[in-house]
Amino acid sequence: MPVSRIRQLGLVNAYLVQEDDGLTLVDALLPGAQKKILAAAETIGAPIVRVALTHAHGDHIGSLDKLAAALPDAEVLISTRDARLLAKDKSLDPGEPQGKWRGNYPGANTKPTATLAAGDRVGSLEVHAAPGHTPGQIAFLDPRDGTLYCADAYSTLGGVATTAKPYARFPLPGFATWHGPTALESARALRTLDPARLAPGHGKVVEAPGAEMDRAIARGA
Ligand SMILES: [Zn+2]
Repeated sequence: MPVSRIRQLGLVNAYLVQEDDGLTLVDALLPGAQKKILAAAETIGAPIVRVALTHAHGDHIGSLDKLAAALPDAEVLISTRDARLLAKDKSLDPGEPQGKWRGNYPGANTKPTATLAAGDRVGSLEVHAAPGHTPGQIAFLDPRDGTLYCADAYSTLGGVATTAKPYARFPLPGFATWHGPTALESARALRTLDPARLAPGHGKVVEAPGAEMDRAIARGA
């Protein structure tokens, strides 16, 4: 199944995942992308029935409110932890590391229709925990073809990198990371899924990414 990537400004990605009942949109780009996203769904010829958000940063939820208005029947899904950030609540959970609120958390007026935790399913997609970049970031693995929608656990702009710390060739996602050591742990955990392809929030889709993920983990970024 080809990966359907929607790009904004050449920097930010969203994805449309085909299911029997329609499309799952993974992430909602920056503000102003709703027309582009709806047009991409129209080209595929199926309705968006779910909006699944990997984390609450502004370049992943930016067009959510406009999309939700255009798609009143679509489910809106985000992790239970980042749902609090979507509601502009930056309080920490008990026992959570003292991360730093980096990056933009603009929140949204749209409320999730349900929240997600590791082990849940979104259509065919498996939900995997990927905290660190944000406290409740999640990744989605499509077991039908091994595509890992890895959110900002890895970026591939300038090469495959984790976001545990800023990567020299494309430092932005690393600068936005909440807690680096947790992000590196998540990068390791996602590597054990042995994905056939990596579909990140930033950068191109990378086929057979295992060796590059290993190098990125070894480098620590
Ligand atoms: Zn991010």
